[in-house]
Amino acid sequence: MYVYNCLNVYLPEDNLKMTLKELKKELFTDLSLLYPGDEANSLVSVLLSHVLKMSAFQLSLNQEMEISQNARKVLKNHSKELQAFKPIQYITGYTEFYNCRIVCKPGVLIPRPESEELVDWIVKSCNMENPRILDIGTGSGCLAIALAKHFKNAYTLATDNSETALEIARKNSKLNNVTVEFQKHDILGSQEISPKGSFHIILSNPPYVRESEKKQMKPNVYDWEPASALFVPDSDPLLYHRKITTEAYKLLSPGGKLFLEINENFPAETERLLSENKFVDIEIKKDIPGRYRMVKAIKATNN
Ligand code: GLN
Repeated sequence: MYVYNCLNVYLPEDNLKMTLKELKKELFTDLSLLYPGDEANSLVSVLLSHVLKMSAFQLSLNQEMEISQNARKVLKNHSKELQAFKPIQYITGYTEFYNCRIVCKPGVLIPRPESEELVDWIVKSCNMENPRILDIGTGSGCLAIALAKHFKNAYTLATDNSETALEIARKNSKLNNVTVEFQKHDILGSQEISPKGSFHIILSNPPYVRESEKKQMKPNVYDWEPASALFVPDSDPLLYHRKITTEAYKLLSPGGKLFLEINENFPAETERLLSENKFVDIEIKKDIPGRYRMVKAIKATNN
């Protein structure tokens, strides 16, 4: 194929050279029309590292490096995907989460930094040798896997109602060399998780975003991530939290701990729900950006 160059001379396309610096500039120009400058910059740098298999540091040392036609094509295609707001983690196929590499594909929620904060809270508040852990609605498996990696002698069970999610979560547990048992289970259904009274830690990051809050979200979230993992009806924002609270009470051993991610607009309502269901020592915690984001509650030993 032949194309015009800037001197209006026909050249074979393969002879058109482009350096890393030039390509970076071109990708940035395309993306900065849709993303804020800082974000466009980091997207370009993640894409370049991913496609050229070089660290950010190596990239900065090789600005004059010539980029092959093939790599340019792949990068331009990825840039188009980003312009359609496909999340970068679905493009590279993975993300890092609390010392774990987690495969991300459409069909599972992309692990969030606030979920890393939840894992950290669990790790720091549960000094146990071999806990029995249950993760309800595991998605990519990130929470269960990070905990199984930390609590080396734990038994970890993770459930989800989506086959796609369970398949990805199983892959992630193998990738991270941990043993997690996965079970297809719908927390809103009537099937029970057994055995009762046997878990020391139960956790969940259930759907909690109200349909009406969708307009505050970015298109890379609502256009690409699974709605079933995100949204609750406006008429019943604590739908999942209510069901999880009652089930968790049955499944936890006395003194067992429940950890949940919550909607920042409902800390008081979530606290009330937990205390109405006989949980004690309820603690609501903000995430780093300062939003009410997680709760810890204990099943009293004398009940
Ligand atoms: N924290 C996520 C978000 O705001 C939502 C996760 C969830 O609904 N469990 O995009």
